[in-house]
Amino acid sequence: MRVLLVEDDPMIGKSVQQGLKHDGYAVDWVRDGETAEAALASAAYELLLLDLGLPRKSGLDVLARLRRRASSLPVLIVTARDAVADRVKGLDAGADDYLVKPFDLDELAARMRSVLRRRAGHADPVIRHGGIAVNPATHEARLDEAAVALSTREFALLHALLASPGVPLSRAKLEECLYGWGEEIDSNAVEVHIHALRRKLGAERIGNIRGVGWFVPPLS
Ligand code: CA
Repeated sequence: MRVLLVEDDPMIGKSVQQGLKHDGYAVDWVRDGETAEAALASAAYELLLLDLGLPRKSGLDVLARLRRRASSLPVLIVTARDAVADRVKGLDAGADDYLVKPFDLDELAARMRSVLRRRAGHADPVIRHGGIAVNPATHEARLDEAAVALSTREFALLHALLASPGVPLSRAKLEECLYGWGEEIDSNAVEVHIHALRRKLGAERIGNIRGVGWFVPPLS
């Protein structure tokens, strides 16, 4: 899952980027509002983590512009501004949630999952499809109730495929889910992870349309 992190504090930015990468997110980190807008225009993200006090353009301006062009991208504001008026302003400007610094990385990750879950339209934290059940909070995967051990990237791929059963995702799209800017991508990484998922879950659990992409078959 690809996330844009907008944060001008180098210490916080670095620790959030590293923590989320460890959690299996692909994280692009930018440090000012204008670069954030350029990034939003050039890549597809599934979540925006937005500081408010930023150089060149404020987080609130970035958010307002995003919503003006009818983007429904989930936005979580992460800021040191803790006044009630600031929180109300941020939420009313279109943010999905608001977290005040200093914060614990575990709470940030939990709020991200909560926002993503609601955006996907389900309240159950476990994503179920056929006999497959995955829990993004614990990274546990089960097949017909039996635990299946997946690597962080195998889990991230499966999670991405389960978001839209029946819809093939291209190699480029899947690489986007797995890697942030500047991360070296092995040319056959997607095939390797898909192969491992098929071996662990059963080959029929992940379909392929040659030249188009991979998908989780819809339930019949
Ligand atoms: Ca700041």
